[in-house]
Amino acid sequence: MGKIECDMCGVCCIAYSISSLNKKAGVTCKNLLPNGKCGDYENRPQVCRDFQADYFCYFLSSLPKDEQISIIKEIYGE
Ligand code: SF4
Ligand code: SF4
Repeated sequence: MGKIECDMCGVCCIAYSISSLNKKAGVTCKNLLPNGKCGDYENRPQVCRDFQADYFCYFLSSLPKDEQISIIKEIYGE
């Protein structure tokens, strides 16, 4: 299977904690735009630069947004 493509769902910008942005897990990043793009792309942290879409993205993409968020909260906490 080839490289997994990111569909810009934005879920990873909500799910993970990012200490350099003082962002807690499950909280929407202040830089996330409604279209799923990064509003501060040029200055995004290294952890965002290194992040790769994976199979979890495929799983999440099959679900409605509110279910995505609740699953993420269960996994990563508030
Ligand atoms: S969760 Fe996956 S598909 Fe969604 S924006 Fe992040 S990398 Fe892309
Ligand atoms: S800085 Fe940009 S890429 Fe990183 S979590 Fe926030 S919106 Fe996503």
